[in-house]
Amino acid sequence: MSENRWGYGKEDGPSVWHKHYPSAKGNRQSPIDIIPHQVSHDPSLGQIVLNYDQCTSINISNNGHSVVVEFDDSDDRSVILGGPLDNPYRLKQFHFHWGGKGCRGSEHTVAGNCYVSELHLVHWNAVKFRTYSDAATAPDGLAVLGIFLETGDDHRWLHMITDALYMVKFKGSVTDFKGFNPKCLLPSSLHYWTYLGSLTTPPLDESVTWIILKEPITLSERQLSKFRMLLFTAEEEDQRMRMENNFRPPQPLKGRKVRSSV
Ligand SMILES: [Zn+2]
Repeated sequence: MSENRWGYGKEDGPSVWHKHYPSAKGNRQSPIDIIPHQVSHDPSLGQIVLNYDQCTSINISNNGHSVVVEFDDSDDRSVILGGPLDNPYRLKQFHFHWGGKGCRGSEHTVAGNCYVSELHLVHWNAVKFRTYSDAATAPDGLAVLGIFLETGDDHRWLHMITDALYMVKFKGSVTDFKGFNPKCLLPSSLHYWTYLGSLTTPPLDESVTWIILKEPITLSERQLSKFRMLLFTAEEEDQRMRMENNFRPPQPLKGRKVRSSV
């Protein structure tokens, strides 16, 4: 495994990431298992607010690890604020983690239970930092909103994404994806758990204030199966590897406190 070559397979997966990314064994790694009865209820935690009204998505791409929708983050048109955050954080991108057949797929778990998928909306602190990359390595640089997905009925809006997936089947492919507002992917309740953690992919920087929504959203098996048509591999590679099980398992809590909004 060379420096920038990592994945989710036997040889390059989460259990060996620490060889090139020592943060993997750090003190605030993500994801974690959230145990609701051990969470401290913090009355000082306010509601989170998602100002996504002027949101402008740019493109959708396959980065070889997930499918990513990128946003224009040149100003404060789409931000998350409130809750544990001291100032607004700008939306940069969102992406998903999912499993193969079966129930696994989320990164965070709740009392040891997995969901089939997890959506991550990645925001950065543009008040304190000049660029996303500066923020991504700072302890208070990023805020990631995590949303669990479970299977059931078709999701009314998620088809806008799943219908675009065939265009980004291969690693490295990218296509225009304008005017998508992720507000349509939020569950009805914004109650959350929050804790200090890290990116869940290399370089695993410990820069994330995690905000995990308690209420999952629902997608159908048919919609989920479209994510599994994506490939980890590029068009020119001989071996084709289906993109699935692109999640890191829960990491040790190491004395951290998880707080709850209600
Ligand atoms: Zn993620």
